[in-house]
Amino acid sequence: MTIVAIDGPAGAGKSTVARRLASDLGWAYLDSGAMYRAVTLVALEEGLPLDDAEALARLAGQLDIDLAADGTLRLGGRDITGLIRGPRVTEAVSRVASVPAVRAVMVSHQRRFAERNAGVVAEGRDIGTVVFPDADLKIYLDADAGERARRRLRQEDEVGEGADEAAVRADIEARDRQDQSREASPLRVADDAWRLDTSGMTLDEVSAAVLKRVRSAVRP
Ligand code: C5P
Repeated sequence: MTIVAIDGPAGAGKSTVARRLASDLGWAYLDSGAMYRAVTLVALEEGLPLDDAEALARLAGQLDIDLAADGTLRLGGRDITGLIRGPRVTEAVSRVASVPAVRAVMVSHQRRFAERNAGVVAEGRDIGTVVFPDADLKIYLDADAGERARRRLRQEDEVGEGADEAAVRADIEARDRQDQSREASPLRVADDAWRLDTSGMTLDEVSAAVLKRVRSAVRP
């Protein structure tokens, strides 16, 4: 099993780059954020209080999450790939992801996913630090908050109609703070990660730089 781990904050280009890299290499794509989003979607649908860690953990343990190698996410057969991108889920997901017992369930799903595939491009917040500490290559993608907000604005399904840059930036910064300051597996740069500041780069340029790095470091 060969693993490339890509971590970084929201809007740094992880999803686009990881997806393209997986397709270029013919590897599976593991979107770990989608799993936290799935738990959050159901918690919101069921009206669970987001400060009830025990209820969230119980829910996470019960969900039948099926993440396909192309990124399609099904819950008990229901395709929720689009639904998990909605603004309500985006706003609530960091709270759900801060619950250690929820993380434990998701991490075991992620490791099982990797065991089923020979090559995996995995992206998230703790992939190189916690989920796959022995990954063949660890990448940390970053960009300044203004640029990340503008990228997110172009993904309208996540930010909602009529959202403006200042509001999206405030949301991103709130999510960064929560992801970086939580006790369980906070977002941080792994000591052995290759860090790329993508500010001022197009996602095509970022993808090309990452592919080059993977080809020289991993030689797939
Ligand atoms: O990457 P995405 O924006 O879909 O991630 C949604 C949220 O899920 C993040 O803001 C973070 O709170 C959580 N997450 C996490 N660990 C991961 C992936 C995502 O805590 N490995």
